[in-house]
Amino acid sequence: MSIETTIGDPNLYQSFKDLKFVEVSEGVSGALEIPIIRPEDNTLQGLHTKIEDKLGKTHWWLMDYWREKGLPGEQFVFKAGELEIEVFNFHTPLTPSELAAFQKAVGIFANVSGSLKHRTFLIDDLQAVNVHSGEDLNGENDPNAPIIKIQPNARRDIPHRIAEVGNFPGTLIHEGAHSLADEKFKEGWGKQFGWSLHLDAPIRHPNGHVQYDIAAEPARCITEYARFNRDEDFAESFLASIIAPERLDPERLAFLQRRFDVLTARSFNGAVDVIKRSGNEVVLPRIPETVLFYRREPKAYIRTAPPPVQ
Ligand SMILES: [Zn+2]
Repeated sequence: MSIETTIGDPNLYQSFKDLKFVEVSEGVSGALEIPIIRPEDNTLQGLHTKIEDKLGKTHWWLMDYWREKGLPGEQFVFKAGELEIEVFNFHTPLTPSELAAFQKAVGIFANVSGSLKHRTFLIDDLQAVNVHSGEDLNGENDPNAPIIKIQPNARRDIPHRIAEVGNFPGTLIHEGAHSLADEKFKEGWGKQFGWSLHLDAPIRHPNGHVQYDIAAEPARCITEYARFNRDEDFAESFLASIIAPERLDPERLAFLQRRFDVLTARSFNGAVDVIKRSGNEVVLPRIPETVLFYRREPKAYIRTAPPPVQ
């Protein structure tokens, strides 16, 4: 009997069964923190469930969503200087112009690679809806995994919201931009451009979306979409600073050029190398088989002062 491996064989994904969970003491480097909240968390089964849940949220190839699709048909590795971006394609093969768009986007991100958190793009074959606009989604940024998901709509031959660029290259740069902004940066951006949270008086959009983060001067945002919240304002402005700087609010442009001073150079000067693998050559990522973890017990109640003595 021969065992055949097909391209869609989901067994080629790393599975939880391949992993060994080893408990260590708190502070061991690289160990997962497992908070013990309920008594059942403290059983062997409870601990394993919590570890798997944590790993499943932070490693895309351990997520059922992707595993059930089988192996991606194509894999690309883009290298520009220090930056390496990996792309797994679960949809139709990339066209030469999409490949060129990826190279260009990677060249742009090579200039800001120090702060780029998301280095994996997954090209999905299923379309989802954007919660802000109610329209078909172009891309999505999962901060935990961390991955950037590109939707079929991004590949349609339609203009991007910022009309100077196509929908596909525009989406790549917009989604990549989200991964440049950490919480501190977003806070600074919000303060600088008059964003504030209105928990008592949100904007209710016709599609049911409720918007709490509101700009004081929405007219200064580059697109309607940039008015949804400070994150979108930043991502849209970042893209505009590259492809339509003359249309961007001058203060936003100056802020971005100060923060990402290399933006003024527009693009990476070196070569962007591409490695392509397809079919059985696709190599999925794996984590080491031994997963270290420690339990974090809930903090015990500590009396701040001894009871009075009479
Ligand atoms: Zn966005």
